Amino acid sequence: MKHRKQRPSFASRLSLAEGLPKCVIPGCGKPTLVASRKGLAAFHCQAHVQHMARHGSHWHGSYRAGELRPYLSSATSYLRCRMQTDGAVKQSIEALTLLLAGSPYEIAARLRGLPVRTRADIAFGRLRRAGIKPERLLAIYLAIVALIEEDPGAVRTKEFRLVQVAKAAHRLASGYHRIWESEDWQGRRSRIELHKFARSSGQILRRIGAMIEERSEFAVERHLAGVLAFKRKRYGPHPALPEAKPLCNKLEG
Ligand SMILES: [Zn+2]
Repeated sequence: MKHRKQRPSFASRLSLAEGLPKCVIPGCGKPTLVASRKGLAAFHCQAHVQHMARHGSHWHGSYRAGELRPYLSSATSYLRCRMQTDGAVKQSIEALTLLLAGSPYEIAARLRGLPVRTRADIAFGRLRRAGIKPERLLAIYLAIVALIEEDPGAVRTKEFRLVQVAKAAHRLASGYHRIWESEDWQGRRSRIELHKFARSSGQILRRIGAMIEERSEFAVERHLAGVLAFKRKRYGPHPALPEAKPLCNKLEG
């Protein structure tokens, strides 16, 4: 019989772990998880570890819909006129079509306890149910890559990119919401709301991002420069770039 190496328990790993006393994020100063004996993160505090899980970076927040919008609408228009003619775009759209079509569907309330892999597949099933088209996923991927490329303050890690792609896709169809209204014996009304989101954090986001990236990479490699040029023509450069002029100058000019 094959002898399986036993993994040391969390408690014993924790007792052996060594790390810095304080979180390395400038200005934070809280104890690291190792220093406070709460976890294995040797360089970051609990808040910054959670930030990493949710946003894919210890310090950079997720892009807001408004920041992404010019890139997304440029990518959408750019792709629209190449969907039938460009080989790389067609190939990516076909791969994303298969992904959406082959994914199972389950409501968010029933996801507890399922492995990450299955939950990520279900996320695509929900996107299909919500009527999300494969070209929309490709446009999202292209938009996030273009935004990170142009934003001088962006985090240029694979993890941040994957999480941002997944979050933007996830926003399209992620929740299961119900609201009940009731009245007590004194006639006071109350509302009970249940917002059950498929957890938008941790490994599942990285997996969703990677599944989209795998199918879109080729098209994006070929068209990133074109999309950025198109976006600059339509909306100008990223506002944080030195060549971006304040809006009033633009109007005067
Ligand atoms: Zn911290």
